[in-house]
Parts: sequence; C-alpha cells; structure tokens
Amino acid sequence: MPNFYTTLLSETRAKIKEIRRESFDRITETQNQALLQVEQDFISLGWNKYWTSEQLIEDGQFERLEQSITDTDLDIIEIDEKSGSGKIEGNSRLYRVSGERCSCTDFIYRGLPCKHMFFLAGVLVGLHNQEISGELS
Ligand SMILES: [Zn+2]
Repeated sequence: MPNFYTTLLSETRAKIKEIRRESFDRITETQNQALLQVEQDFISLGWNKYWTSEQLIEDGQFERLEQSITDTDLDIIEIDEKSGSGKIEGNSRLYRVSGERCSCTDFIYRGLPCKHMFFLAGVLVGLHNQEISGELS
C-alpha cells in the first residue's frame, strides 16, 4: 500500500521524466547539433566553467548523450536545483552527479562528462524552462 510519501515521490519522478523527454526533443538529427544544444545547456547551468567545448565533442561523447536519452534505466532519486546536483540511479546503482563530476566508473576512467551528467543537465534545464513558462503564464 503506497503511503503519501511514496505517491508523491513517484508523481515527482514521472513529472521529471516527462520534462526530460521534452527537453531532449529539441535535440535534432546531427551529432554536432545535439552536442551544441548540450553545450548551451551546460552554459545556462554554469557548467562551462568545468568543461570546454572541445571536451564536450570528444570521441564517444555523442554516444553518452544518446544513452542519457534512450537509457530507460536512468532515474532521478534526488535533485537539488540550487546546487545543480543529484543522485541518479542507473543499472541498479546509485551515483552522485553534479556538473563537475560523477561517481560512476566511466567518469573516473575518462574524466569527461558521462551519460549521468548529460541526463542531469537535461532535467535541470527542463525544470528551469518549466519554471520560466510558469511565471509567464
Ligand atoms: Zn556518471
């Protein structure tokens, strides 16, 4: 029997997943365009102080971006909009993610933004855009 808290949490997660999908719908056909869009997201989050444009387009980065969109295992467990960080679940593991680092092995080995970071960026930008449209309406 779900209690109030678990209901609230699952509603929030469903909403976040919807926002994430909307936010990534903007991403178009070519890899470069997709990565340019992510660069814009990183700039709007202030994450460009950690990463250069060159790092975002290094080999393998598009694949990670793609995984952040298509990997249905990814889920937000906690999100802190103010600090731009959160806890993300993927493959039944929990990762601490921010614009600067992630606790996953992919990040530890490569030292470049991983799919969790791209996923978090999409959600944060989606939440931010939703707040702006909420203020305008
Ligand atoms: Zn990661």
